Amino acid sequence: TRLKEGLAKTRNNIVRGIDSLFSGFSAIDDEFYEELEEILIMGDIGVNATMEIVSRLKAQIKERHIREPQECKQLLIEGIKEQMRVGENAYDFEKKQSVIMVIGVNGVGKTTSVGKLAGKLKDDGRKVLIAAADTFRAAAGDQLAEWARRADVPVVGGSEGADPASVVFDAVSAAKARGVDVLLIDTAGRLHNKKNLMEELRKMNRIVEREFPDAHRENLIVLDGTTGQNALVQAREFGEVADLTGIILTKMDGTAKGGIAVAIQSELRVPVKYIGVGETIDDLQKFDSDEFVNALFD
Ligand code: GDP
Repeated sequence: TRLKEGLAKTRNNIVRGIDSLFSGFSAIDDEFYEELEEILIMGDIGVNATMEIVSRLKAQIKERHIREPQECKQLLIEGIKEQMRVGENAYDFEKKQSVIMVIGVNGVGKTTSVGKLAGKLKDDGRKVLIAAADTFRAAAGDQLAEWARRADVPVVGGSEGADPASVVFDAVSAAKARGVDVLLIDTAGRLHNKKNLMEELRKMNRIVEREFPDAHRENLIVLDGTTGQNALVQAREFGEVADLTGIILTKMDGTAKGGIAVAIQSELRVPVKYIGVGETIDDLQKFDSDEFVNALFD
């Protein structure tokens, strides 16, 4: 399937280890568990998540008197799915009038993801408007305009150096006036300093809240899947200023570190809503953690 192809490198990384684990060990002993831990950690599933997965597995193996490694493979797969459970993975913005603020540091694939998401929502028959609130980077507006053209969606832009909050204000007014279903706001990934960036985000959120109180609101953070544990650090920092409602995990096609999706979702308790698996407008896939784990281990 496309998901499996997109995750080829991560699959290679994890599946090879898991296969040799289950064929190489004839008994479930301490060494088996150590090897399993190492495979999961090397697969970027994260230390905490790994420890929890393995300790639950141990308990189940004991309880069910399982002796053969082969017999616990399915338990392991189910345990990873369990670890990723974050309640309803809601896509409310597909139904309600919504404002989606897209945040994240530069280079993670924010603009690309806004473009892909705009195209997807538009294809679903929704009326979409993009706000170009990254007024800090000269090229950002042009790049976004190009994506908007591909997605066939209008943009409300700010000129370079304009106040991002005023762009948001204008975009919200336009969205209300035009009866837009989804307003996607592309934000700056860098400002003069971090404090500045975070202040700006707060300000933009307040404007949306005040000017568009009836809209369903989302803060989606874009994280680069190839950066492994760094992605977690970024999410925690942004999480301090914005209420994260979802994650877009990009560049999953180019990485063996895709297991990071497990670490991120289980540690942040925020659902990964989409993964990016390429550079074209169609390369954004809805994320379902069960499907993801199946694709990794099948
Ligand atoms: P921004 O600075 O966060 O807005 O990042 P951009 O949207 O400009 O993307 C940075 C680079 O990552 C570009 O070369 C994109 O084509 C690339 N990119 C974004 N998403 C993906 C993805 O899912 N897969 C791959 N392979 N490349 C991606």
